[in-house]
Amino acid sequence: MKTVKARGVVLREYEAGESDKRLILLCKGLGKLNVYARGARKPKSKFMAAAQLFTYGDYVLSDGGSFQALAQAEIIENFFTIREDYESLSCAHYIAEICEKSVLESNPADDLLLLLLKSLSLLNKKNDRIPAKQIRLVFLFRFFAWYGIAPETESCSVCGGQVQPAGEMPEGENARIPFADEGICCPKCGGKKTRKTFLSPAGLEALRHILNAGLPESFQFKASGRVTAELSAGGKLFWESHFQTKLRSEEFL
Ligand SMILES: [Zn+2]
Repeated sequence: MKTVKARGVVLREYEAGESDKRLILLCKGLGKLNVYARGARKPKSKFMAAAQLFTYGDYVLSDGGSFQALAQAEIIENFFTIREDYESLSCAHYIAEICEKSVLESNPADDLLLLLLKSLSLLNKKNDRIPAKQIRLVFLFRFFAWYGIAPETESCSVCGGQVQPAGEMPEGENARIPFADEGICCPKCGGKKTRKTFLSPAGLEALRHILNAGLPESFQFKASGRVTAELSAGGKLFWESHFQTKLRSEEFL
């Protein structure tokens, strides 16, 4: 039987059979794979640890046609610390669900895999951790960019007109910049949008940082509670207007 070597992350696990698991993996060079792990729920199974949610590992798969069967597995990182904190865990579930819902089977998504691994490793830190909510939001907006739908942050997403850059808003800190389906809007276009939320200048600045910085740096900034709430509302609106599907992990956030 043909075997395939795959390095990737477990995005989802389902119980199957009496003691088996069905896994969805996101793998380097291979994209999303459906994998059957026979006996993985038995306490003494050699796949017990490697078939856990969020585990990053090297997997040897034997080709079973519509699915691949797990033949060997070696863990690179199990991200176990994530499970010790409810907020980190719920954010990791959210991130994994987005990867699962957006990647097509057997379509490589290596840049998304890198973003996923970076997010999981930051959520897994014991000390000096960036808030889990912030990690989730950076993941979400960079995911939009990876998907090719990064929100417009420099000029009005409807008319292309100028939206005052952060720091130069006439109303200063209290300025409210409309943020709708395609990104920020000038006050005139924003006024016509029924579905919208608002960013403060600091919120827009944070969004620009997330989208323009390199991958490691994009997570590094100080966000106030207000900025986190604004980005969270904007991210939710943006996801819903582009994907028309609800995320089951969202209710645990
Ligand atoms: Zn406009």
